[in-house]
Parts: sequence; C-alpha cells; structure tokens
Amino acid sequence: MLRGRIIKGIGGFYYVDTDKGVFECKARGIFRKKKIVPLVGDLVEVSIIEEDEKKGVIEEIYERSSELIRPPVSNITKAIIVFSVKNPNPHFSLMDRFIALAEREGLEIVIVISKIDLDDDNYFEKIDNIYKKAGYKVIPISVKKSINIEKIKEELVDNIVVFAGPSGVGKSSLLNAIDSNLKLETGSISKKIKRGKHTTRHAELLKLQCGGMVVDTPGFSSLNLDNIDERELKDYFVEFDKYSSECKFYRNCLHENEPDCSVKDAIKRGEISKQRYESYLQLLKEIRKNNRRY
Ligand code: GDP
Ligand code: ZN
Repeated sequence: MLRGRIIKGIGGFYYVDTDKGVFECKARGIFRKKKIVPLVGDLVEVSIIEEDEKKGVIEEIYERSSELIRPPVSNITKAIIVFSVKNPNPHFSLMDRFIALAEREGLEIVIVISKIDLDDDNYFEKIDNIYKKAGYKVIPISVKKSINIEKIKEELVDNIVVFAGPSGVGKSSLLNAIDSNLKLETGSISKKIKRGKHTTRHAELLKLQCGGMVVDTPGFSSLNLDNIDERELKDYFVEFDKYSSECKFYRNCLHENEPDCSVKDAIKRGEISKQRYESYLQLLKEIRKNNRRY
C-alpha cells in the first residue's frame, strides 16, 4: 500500500501524489455504497495495480481536518486573505466577510496586503492597526518590488493553503513570484474571459517548490453567508470572544442592543476596532434578511 494525497480529480479518476510519483486511481466501490466521495486534498491509501503505468485504487480515505465546499477541497490548513492598498482599493467589509468565512472553516488565517509599492496614502498602517488588534498576522508585500515574498513562502511550507481575495489584488502574480513553475495567468481581463468559457472548472492542488501546496482557484468565491445562524456570526469575529463572557447576557449576547455589553465597552475604549464591529453588524443584518427570505 502506498500513502498519498489526491491533488486532482477528473471524471471518476483521482490523481494521487505519492513518494513513487502521481498515480491515476479509481476509488473502491465501497466508497460509493457508503456515499463517500473522495475529495481533492484527501490523504489516502492506494493499492498499486500497475507500478510502471502508475495506476492504482484508493482503498482508504483518512479523516478530514477540514472540508471546503467552494472550491471543494479537504484538509486545507490555512487561508491567505489578500487585499491591495490600491487598484483595487481596500474594501474592509469584504475583508471581514472573507475572514468570517475562513474562521468558520477553522482555518489559520494570514492577511496579506499587496501592492504596497502603490501605498501613497499609507493605507497599510490603517489596515495593519485594525487587524493586528484583532489578533491576525498581517504581511505587507509587493510583487513588483519583491518585498516579503520569502515571508509568504514561510507561511506555505507544510501547509495546504487557499488564497482568497477579490480579483485584481495580485493573487496570481504572488503565486508566480513564489514559484516560477506555476505560470498562472495574470491581469483580470483575460482571466474573466476564460472564466466565462470554462464554467465547470475543478479545483486542483499545486505542489510548490518551497514546500506546501496551494489550491489553484481562489477560496470563498461565492461569499454567501447561507447556513450561518445569526447567533453563530459573533464567533467568527474572534476578538469579541475574550469580552463576551462579561456581557450581561453572556454568550447569548449578540453585542447589538443588549444592556451591559462588554464588547461595546471594549469598542468605546478602542480595544476592538469600530470598523470590524460595523462589519459585524452589517453581516448580521444580511443574515437576518436572508433568513426572512426562506
Ligand atoms: P488576481 O486577480 O488577484 O490573481 O490578480 P493578478 O495577479 O492577475 O494581478 C492583477 C494586476 O495587478 C496585474 O495587472 C498585476 O500586474 C498587478 N500587480 C500584481 N502585483 C502587483 C504589485 O505588487 N504591485 C503593482 N503595482 N501591481 C501589481
Ligand atoms: Zn455583548
């Protein structure tokens, strides 16, 4: 038996990366009976059918530590959320939405602020203040000026990473700078045209020279908050947590209009960013509106 990881799946075939190379595998029928669908990212045991032709059968799927729906990839360990200081300008509530969705999946989160070569208005400092206070690691980068690319590589080693962020912030450019073998297309216009053509793209894991793997499509692209309960959202604004035990209504407090709310007090004292709190309220409103619709 050979242990490996599924890096690609097409038409019932799974491509499993092992010490002996990439094997083309079918899954045992038992998985179908148990209604288990192998996922890109799965750690599996393979029995070899043809060593030379690198063909095998997936016999076992190990338990998943995480399972993303869009893109459908398991065992992702880290989300790198990218926003640029300019072209496009940072969009804070969108950033907080990405963060909440990644928190929900239990992923480690790193925030990358790109294109700092264009930072004439000193946006980086503002973003850094807000998100460091919330407890996140924030890394400024420039692909153009080769700033901090090595730091991003360090974040990738031993991880399975999904990059998230709006189009045009430089995610593909960054990946190309990390690993010149990737040759991803950059520049949003041509990519948009492509996306229109290939509507049924499958996610794939790309192995990086520096170690680690990356999902080839951006994460959380649908960005909808379906299935998030209004009481659940506060858990994804992690900096609220240490205060919420002191709210009058304890963990039932939504930190909205309740009396004696510790979170709101912390905002007044400047310990929690007002901007983050406003994003929270905005998302809360959106969840309520969605729930009324069903
Ligand atoms: P993606 O949609 O997030 O994958 O973004 P792309 O990688 O396609 O980049 C979008 C545009 O931003 C391209 O025209 C890049 O050349 C440009 N870009 C990427 N990184 C930088 C950077 O560090 N500085 C500057 N000034 N432009 C960049
Ligand atoms: Zn509260």
